[in-house]
Amino acid sequence: MASSLSALRLRAGTFTRLGSSARWARLSRLAVGGAVRYTSSLPDIEPNRLAIRKRQQLKEVPPLKGLKFGRHFTDHMLTIPWTAEKGWGQPEIKDYGPLSLDPSSAVFHYAQCLFEGMKAYRNAEGRITLFRPDMNMARMNRSAERLALPTFNPDALLACIKQLLITDKHWIPQEPGHSLYIRPVLIGIQESVGISPPDSALLYVICSPVGPYYPDGFKPVALYGTTEHVRAALGGTGEFKIGSNYAPGVYPQKKAIEKGYVQNLWLHGPEHNLTEVGTMNLFVVFKGEDGRYELVTPPLDGMILPGVTRDSILQLARSHLAGQINVSDLPKNLVVSERTVNMKEIVDAAKSGALVEMFGSGTAAVVSPVDRIGYLGRDVHIPVDADGMGPISRPIWKELVGRQMGTIEDNLGWSVVVE
Ligand SMILES: *Cc1c(COP(=O)(O)O)cnc(C)c1O
Repeated sequence: MASSLSALRLRAGTFTRLGSSARWARLSRLAVGGAVRYTSSLPDIEPNRLAIRKRQQLKEVPPLKGLKFGRHFTDHMLTIPWTAEKGWGQPEIKDYGPLSLDPSSAVFHYAQCLFEGMKAYRNAEGRITLFRPDMNMARMNRSAERLALPTFNPDALLACIKQLLITDKHWIPQEPGHSLYIRPVLIGIQESVGISPPDSALLYVICSPVGPYYPDGFKPVALYGTTEHVRAALGGTGEFKIGSNYAPGVYPQKKAIEKGYVQNLWLHGPEHNLTEVGTMNLFVVFKGEDGRYELVTPPLDGMILPGVTRDSILQLARSHLAGQINVSDLPKNLVVSERTVNMKEIVDAAKSGALVEMFGSGTAAVVSPVDRIGYLGRDVHIPVDADGMGPISRPIWKELVGRQMGTIEDNLGWSVVVE
């Protein structure tokens, strides 16, 4: 066991050293390349067939104060069935409630399951917007293709989701920092314990009102530099948002918590390359001797989930440097890098004072600062300012949230108006 593990590590290591951009290009083609298209001659999702069956008795919207992430769900859900024989069936908006599925359904045995996470915002005037939902739809289609589940027209699903948001619009909080978390899911429900491309599937969308991730100001997290488990591997499925990537991460998280940390910092290969933080993308900021900042995130090499927040942070910083937009208070003496970064570089930079900050990024928390990494029995400390943030994450976070909530004018075409 031990020898086969180190053999694997070695191979992964060689792979990394050979690590040509050609291999990256191949591995990340699915992640960032051309859009997955619906190619069947059977019916696609048809928004004009959408049936809206409103429930009689509406639920009470829970108070916003103390709202726990992802615990309360709105009155309705969207469901769209699919069969290999008939293609996509009628979309329906109906009572939020239990699904009735055969116990032999593939999803329960082989994790034929994928999901998305996105948010809707409602401003004081009642205007409802989504943030770059095309990216979620495209990523969902790539996950579907990877799991041999049916793909679909992204605009058609988005049109149905908009109707769900309009149906349940009084659930979308209007307070600053609040939003409605939208969770699209696609499962394989073939009634058989044989494993094969599913002959039937169910797409559904549920919604949950959420408050700010850090209601009392940013609280930096301590990470456990995890070397005994991997989240993803080269040639694996780390770049897809599929259920089977997440259940195995819970045990390592439990172990990290037992050791006094909050989340796993997933380290990869013999060089202990940094990949992701829990279920967030990762950014590190260094400062060179010339005073220049470098904002670094690992490249999309097939192991990294191509986050919408990750992409938005990169684009904001790059557009700022190119003079296309102005991100208030973001330094101009900054370079943006998508490159590999390993723990040796982090430890050295922490010693020399070149490590400026580290943070995770994702839809739920937006930005999540890190102040400590437990690594090989020692703690590496990372600076944070009194407000829990740093000189690069603070202006980026403000800009991003402003653009999501609509308080900063959208000149990048990221905000999609629902109503
Ligand atoms: C969803 C997710 C992210 C963040 O993606 P966003 O689109 O920014 O929310 C990062 N890493 C993993 C593993 C994820 O599942």
